[in-house]
Amino acid sequence: MNFLLPLTGCFAQPVAENPTVVMIEAAYRHHGLDWRYINCEVAPEDLGDAVRGARAMGWRGFNCSLPHKVAVIDHLDALGQSAAIIGAVNTIVRDGDRMIGENTDGRGFVVALKEVVDPKGKSVVLLGAGGAARAVAVEMALAGAARITIVNRSAERGQAVVDLLNDSSPAKASYASWQQTFAVPADTDIVINATSIGLYPDVEAMPDIDTGSLTPGMVVADGIPNPPRTRFLQAAQARGCRTVDGLGMLVQQGVIGIKYWTGVDADPQVMRKALLDLGL
Ligand code: NDP
Repeated sequence: MNFLLPLTGCFAQPVAENPTVVMIEAAYRHHGLDWRYINCEVAPEDLGDAVRGARAMGWRGFNCSLPHKVAVIDHLDALGQSAAIIGAVNTIVRDGDRMIGENTDGRGFVVALKEVVDPKGKSVVLLGAGGAARAVAVEMALAGAARITIVNRSAERGQAVVDLLNDSSPAKASYASWQQTFAVPADTDIVINATSIGLYPDVEAMPDIDTGSLTPGMVVADGIPNPPRTRFLQAAQARGCRTVDGLGMLVQQGVIGIKYWTGVDADPQVMRKALLDLGL
């Protein structure tokens, strides 16, 4: 008998509304893993103690969400490739005594996207330049996207992502201003909403783009996980585009995390169903 359960979880503030626990524990149960995933409310000033506690208690790994994704780096031993480029960590992996920081935000997105289209050599329009957009942009570049146009309301944040891509990847990145309705260039292959526009409860909101500029050859993706069928994706579908929802990004991040922690390839359908059963 073994009454010592391997521990994983999430450190964030606020953390109560974070549904990742539901999909991860559904996967643990489905795969017969007697592991736990525990949401922990951790204030910024307590983050160092929390990471030391996780080390002391032998946690196998954990996720960090807002506001800890950058600050946690000071408490880790090393960073994975994309986490180092992005400058933020959302998944911590235990390697013996060492804590390694990885970023799965963008990787989860790319895995979900690849079920519909391979970004290699493609021309991409990315709406947004916040934390999620930065992670998605870097992973799209690492996955071989040829051109990435960052469309963002704040020019400073947009240009910062452009500079990061041009400095750290072979992708050709450029900034496009977003002070008025944005028309997607006709030669675009993939359009991604990585802003927070459309997130519950603001479900009627939609990025200010000219939907008439979307054409059936384009793949349109949304990072918003709740609701999965955003108004933006509904408009893209109505224009004949293939679409990728933000639930896929969330689920695939979980799949990557579980693989890091347990070595098991988790079933994404089980995890997606667990989230949909919540009413997402
Ligand atoms: P940030 O606050 O860092 O960035 C928000 C972005 O949205 C900025 O680019 C901001 O532009 C833009 N934005 C917000 N409101 C407007 C508006 N009215 N008009 C134009 N632009 C706007 O947030 P994150 O990057 O951390 O998160 C963004 C979204 O990504 C979240 O809503 C979250 O749901 C989603 N996400 C999904 C994940 C998943 O697994 N599916 C994982 C992580 C995040 P500006 O710079 O001009 O302010």
